[in-house]
Amino acid sequence: MTSVRVDEQKCVRCRTCVDCCFICAMVWDGQLQRPYLKYGDDCQICGVCETLCPTGALYIQPDWQAKHQPRLLVQGREKL
Ligand code: SF4
Ligand code: SF4
Repeated sequence: MTSVRVDEQKCVRCRTCVDCCFICAMVWDGQLQRPYLKYGDDCQICGVCETLCPTGALYIQPDWQAKHQPRLLVQGREKL
């Protein structure tokens, strides 16, 4: 499963990585005050969150083998 690594020293808690994730795979952990990839299976490995992180604190660790269509988008889809 795709995961994310956050450099705690570099992270400025701006939440840009959470806000920019178009499938809401990245969420904010209010207790730890850091982002985490809650839905790693749905991550499209687009790299937007990593690219937009203003301090370079975020590293996506892709699992290309497990990559598949996002469940969020196929839920409720009718079979033809
Ligand atoms: S790589 Fe793309 S899909 Fe995955 S968490 Fe970041 S913005 Fe979301
Ligand atoms: S975008 Fe970067 S600095 Fe901002 S919360 Fe995410 S990891 Fe931290």
